[in-house]
Amino acid sequence: MKNVNLKISLIITKPNYIIKIFSKLTKLQRVRAYSLIFSHNCRLPHAMWKIGPHELEEQEKSLHTCIRIAQSQEYQSGIHALSNCQKIFEASSNSALKNHLTQLVIESEHLWLLHATSQLLLSSLRQTSWIVNRRDSTRCILQLCIVCKKKSKAETLQQLMGQFPHARVNSARSFLNFGKDCT
Ligand SMILES: [Zn+2]
Repeated sequence: MKNVNLKISLIITKPNYIIKIFSKLTKLQRVRAYSLIFSHNCRLPHAMWKIGPHELEEQEKSLHTCIRIAQSQEYQSGIHALSNCQKIFEASSNSALKNHLTQLVIESEHLWLLHATSQLLLSSLRQTSWIVNRRDSTRCILQLCIVCKKKSKAETLQQLMGQFPHARVNSARSFLNFGKDCT
């Protein structure tokens, strides 16, 4: 067996950078899953390497790591206070709106549900994740969606109706006009 020396250099700028460079959640999950496989393979001997496409479990794990990165950045002071058994004073509720991962999660769910309205989107998001200020966040995302904007402006055609008979639209005494349904 031939020994090969590999030199790997990692440049870590900011932990949130990996999230910001992607515009779609699925791509972020896939890339993150492959990086997790790579780090797994680096720690183990060649016989135990994972080779081939990533699995659903790794994709979910990658999303969890991204959420952990985003949370550690948004709630830095709160996490620090909790780890030192101190009280939390501030609640950074507005910062959740600015987080790129929140936008990606909402956009992905919106597209998965085929441009769902806000109520359906909110109920679906509630089943999978707990997003702070999700009502405002979803409203912002829906306002930016071009397909939904076009759909809301489109007018439906008025259906052509047949003319009603004279006796049906004009008032008259009881039993002056009558009909019989033979079907
Ligand atoms: Zn839409």
